[in-house]
Amino acid sequence: MSLLEDARNGVVTDEMRQVAVDEGVDAEFVRRGVAAGRIVIPVSPYRSVRVVGIGKGLRTKVNASIGTSSDLVDVEMEVEKAKVAQEAGADTLMELSTGGDFYEIRKRVVGVTDLSVGSVPLYQAFIEAIRRYGAAVHMRVDDLFRITEEQAKLGTNFMAIHTGINRITVERLMKQGRFGGLCSRGGAFMTAWMIHNEMENPLYSEFDYLLEILKEHEVTLSMGNGMRAGAVHDATDRAQIQELIINSELSDRAYDYGVQVIVEGPGHVPLDEIKANVILEKRLSGERPFYMLGPLVTDIAPGYDHIVAAIGASISSACGADFICYVTPSEHLALPNPEEVREGVIAARIAAHVGDMVKNGRREDDLLMGRARRDLDWKKQYELAIEPEYAEELRCERTPSNSETCTMCGEYCSLKIVKENFNFKR
Ligand code: SF4
Repeated sequence: MSLLEDARNGVVTDEMRQVAVDEGVDAEFVRRGVAAGRIVIPVSPYRSVRVVGIGKGLRTKVNASIGTSSDLVDVEMEVEKAKVAQEAGADTLMELSTGGDFYEIRKRVVGVTDLSVGSVPLYQAFIEAIRRYGAAVHMRVDDLFRITEEQAKLGTNFMAIHTGINRITVERLMKQGRFGGLCSRGGAFMTAWMIHNEMENPLYSEFDYLLEILKEHEVTLSMGNGMRAGAVHDATDRAQIQELIINSELSDRAYDYGVQVIVEGPGHVPLDEIKANVILEKRLSGERPFYMLGPLVTDIAPGYDHIVAAIGASISSACGADFICYVTPSEHLALPNPEEVREGVIAARIAAHVGDMVKNGRREDDLLMGRARRDLDWKKQYELAIEPEYAEELRCERTPSNSETCTMCGEYCSLKIVKENFNFKR
């Protein structure tokens, strides 16, 4: 019996209870959300994790993606990045290695975290095809499903799977063209494979078999956005919407079969189109959890894309996105290092919080911080800060002449003047 089936049968599981405690909501609320497909709780029979609920009525969750590339295979660095991501407050981790020994890297990463871990089996399938048969277009369908099952048995909680790319999607893409191509590696690989082999995407044509594997190993299906545009000028185009329609239809089949499902969204979207993207996904999929990759709201700020994505993520979260993927400062430029992973997670957490202030009305911490600032209560301010040590470090490294204030205004601290002359207590 899967978690989704338990929820449908009225059973409140330990995982649902834990999510309810973490979120400050009723366990029955979580059960009903899971039963309706509005909330997912990625679990695995192979690994116990810090459970996390993703979906309507819950806090927006942040994913950090790590993993080697073909150019940089440093397993110790990836292990360090996994630890840093968890310490910085990521809710989930995606292990997306495309270089080195996949099995070894995943085992090491999964071994140092108790976060829910996601993967993209398609990456491994295509790269193994390159190594064994000389080209990604020679990938064998059996290998793809074998790798999916192997990754599930390693304790993978959710998988991004590019189900929505079919011949119609590709036709739409080819007809219209793109300014910025495709920025989904899985999407690019699969589209090339389909064109070369003149075959349907097996993840679409053999979707029922895929569901069998996912259900047997209790993996949450994250329906990949393979048509993800790599430029804001291509946002919300026909190919992207075609894929969303197909994924939405398939998400009904996954749900009916008892597999928890998330729908993934785009990564480059101008500010004024974000709301439409969220509404479309929620409307077409029947309110399945929406996983947005930021989005990045401009393409002109390489080196600062964690900020660009945080702007987009705060809007997408406020509009109803449930799950956002972080972006690091090295996006589009290099494989991130641990410090950049930390910066990416913090930026995404700020965005998620900003979104939750609107979406869920979660403003208690802001109220407390406002009071702590008014009262010059530095200890409380550090406690409430998104990164307490950093906040304390910044103030203390530039020692103020008056222990009540900081060096920004020094003796002309407006809050001190207020504190000494007015009574603003609320
Ligand atoms: S010195 Fe200025 S910045 Fe610092 S606490 Fe006072 S008012 Fe705020």
